[in-house]
Formats: sequence, C-alpha cells, structure tokens
Amino acid sequence: MAKSSKHCSFCGRPETQVGFLITGLDGAQICNECTEQAAAIVRDAKMGNDMASTLDKEKLPKPAEIKNYLDQYVIGQDDAKKYLSVAVYNHYKRVLQEKSNDDVEIEKSNIIMVGYTGTGKTLLAKTIARKLHVPFTIVDATVLTEAGYVGEDIESILTRLLQVADYNVKEAERGIVFIDEIDKIARKSDNPSITRDVSGEGVQQGLLKLLEGSVVNVPPQGGRKHPEQKFIPVNTQNILFICGGAFDGIERKIANRLNTRVVGYGASIENEMVDRTNLLQYIAPQDLKSFGLIPEIIGRLPILTYLEPLDRSALRNILTEPKNSIIKQYVKLFKMDGVDLIFEPEVLDYIVDKAIEFKLGARGLRSITETIMIDQMFEMPTKKEKKWLVTIDYARTKMDKANAHRLKTA
Ligand code: ADP
Repeated sequence: MAKSSKHCSFCGRPETQVGFLITGLDGAQICNECTEQAAAIVRDAKMGNDMASTLDKEKLPKPAEIKNYLDQYVIGQDDAKKYLSVAVYNHYKRVLQEKSNDDVEIEKSNIIMVGYTGTGKTLLAKTIARKLHVPFTIVDATVLTEAGYVGEDIESILTRLLQVADYNVKEAERGIVFIDEIDKIARKSDNPSITRDVSGEGVQQGLLKLLEGSVVNVPPQGGRKHPEQKFIPVNTQNILFICGGAFDGIERKIANRLNTRVVGYGASIENEMVDRTNLLQYIAPQDLKSFGLIPEIIGRLPILTYLEPLDRSALRNILTEPKNSIIKQYVKLFKMDGVDLIFEPEVLDYIVDKAIEFKLGARGLRSITETIMIDQMFEMPTKKEKKWLVTIDYARTKMDKANAHRLKTA
C-alpha cells in the first residue's frame, strides 16, 4: 500500500489517522500525539535531573546544617534532631554511593521516634523532607490492616508517596514516609488467641517487607475499589521510613528494666543517676519489644530516639520563635489588610497558661489564639484602623465568652 505523502516522521501514521501534523525542515513532520509524548519525555528527563541535582553528594546538607534548619522550625528536641540529622544524612549518602567493590554495605537507617503526642514528631519529619526536597507523606498506622480485612492495605502507604511524587516512580523511590501512631499496631497481647490480630501483629508483619527494602506492587489509586488498576512496582530500598508513636505507658517498662538492672552489679550508681521525671530518654529497643513491637520490626528501625515533653518555656517559644510561628502567621494575615498587629507579652503567657490548663499541649496554642482573634479577624478588614494591640483584658474577655469546653475536646 502506498503511503500518503503526508505522514508523521516519528510514528509513521498518515495524516488521516492523526489530529494534525506539524511540518519542519526538509519535509519532516510530527503529529500532535508524538508531540505530546515528546513533551512528556522532556518533562520526565527534567524531573530526573532536578532530583539528581537536589540529591547531589556535594550539595547534600551535612548533619549540622540539617539540624540548623530544624532549629528554625522546631523548638527544643535537641537529641531527636541530632539523631535524625545523622540518620538522614547517612541514608542519602547510602543512596548516592557509587557501586564499590568492597563488601561494606551501608544498611538502611529507618528511624523510630518515641514521644508524647504534640511534641513535634510529625513536624520534625515534615521539616526534614522539605529541606531535602524529596517527596514526603504521612500515614496513620491505625487505619492499616492485614490484606483482605476491612481497612487499608499496607501497600496504600506507597500509593500516597506515588501521588505526592506525581507518579514519578524514581522520585518516590527516594522519598520519606512518616508512619504515625506506630504504637497502635503493637501486638495486642502475648497470648496467641483464636482471633487473628489483623490490625496489630498482622500489620507489623506486612510492614516488614516495606521497611527492609523490596519491590512492592502498588495500586496507583489505592484501596480495593479499582480492581482493574494496573499495579506499579516500587522499590522501597531507598525510601526512608520514619515512625513515630506516643507509646503510652512505656515509662513503666523502662522503669522496670532500669530497676532490674539495679539488682545487678554497679547498680546503685546507675540508679542514682536516673532522672525519673523523664524516663523516655532511657528508651531502649527491648522496651519497644515489651510494649508489643515484634523484634523483626525493631531490627528494621535501627535508629531509636525520643522527644522531650514540652514545658511552659518551650510552649512559649513555640508561639513566637519558629520561622512560621503562630504569632508570625497572624501578624502576616493582618499586614495583608494593612494593619499592624501587636500582642501584649502577657497575652502570650496567657495563651500558654490556657494550653497547659486544658492539657492541649502545642496543638492547643493555635485553637486558643484563634478563639481570641476570631472576632477581630471578622471585623478588621472592614474597619479603617491601621494598628491593633491585643491586650490581656481583651484576651481574657474573649476566652471567658468562648465555650472553653469546646476547646478542651478540640
Ligand atoms: P506529634 O507528631 O508529636 O504528635 P506534631 O509534630 O504534629 O506532634 O505537633 C503538632 C503541632 O504542634 C505542630 O504542627 C506544631 O505547630 C506544634 N509543635 C509541636 N511540637 C513543637 C516543637 N517542638 N516546636 C515547634 N512547634 C511544635
């Protein structure tokens, strides 16, 4: 069959089978579909280059640099910051290492952070991912169940990572996943029971293969509602997993372990040095095991660190010090309406007092500030004022009027 003289020089299809042709020099032609494909190839290649440049060995931020960056956004938590900075640095060094002939294989440094809720675990993980410009996602371990049961499959963790990476598999494969509430998948009891522990030990078993690094078939849309979807193979070898959990009551396990050692030699000295007000700082892998994590999981989370409870002065700093602190955000919001917003220092102390009184921790600082500010934020844009001072009397009146009970359960 004779070819029509007008055809795409790339796919060979005649003009009649394509939308339109673009003509170039010497009669070369390209159809609309090939143009789109070419554009996609250019985009992907550019993305790959961008990734390579963001994760360049020369440009890889050093641990001290990572910690400095974290200091701008997260108050306190020096130990956790140090552990995280080193672990993340080593992890990406491992990712970027050239193939060598020696037998030294740098192992994956997944991390587990133990600390009360609202002390900055998620914030730390999020901030690190931002510094490194890698895809980052947060998943809640409580929604995961063993395959075949009501809940989300473990592979759905990677679906989210793929989504934030715009389905660029290469990019997702260097990302960071924060698994929150890892303590909630602890083994429910030591006694093997007739009912399967599908949201506890079953999930831990399922997580193992993700943590250790393997190729996992990921449903691109997640869930089980799209049986027709094609799986995307994702290699988890270079994905960094950071797990966090409050591990309520783990202090008792730590105390028990420390006391047991008291019976042994050299005990009295150690016991004297123990700071009983903050036992989390002594956390060790065996405490996680006593809590109900299986040894294989603990083995794949070699970096164990803890977060300090936030005291009054830490809460006060959180209000004003971080680069995007709550107060700085309000000041900016008002500035956009041409209003200079100023807080009396007593107001800031008062917000902290209320957060402590309602046992809301750092998360409460925002809801309390919002309660104080809501009326003014409603009225200010239509007023002519250029300056507004939030006084302690104003803050008290607003808080007294508000339904404090609502905040307590917020
Ligand atoms: P966790 O993951 O430990 O439960 P988050 O990191 O989600 O807690 O913290 C909740 C919010 O509280 C954060 O978004 C942040 O605004 C604030 N916050 C908590 N801890 C800190 C901290 N150490 N420094 C600055 N802000 C903090």
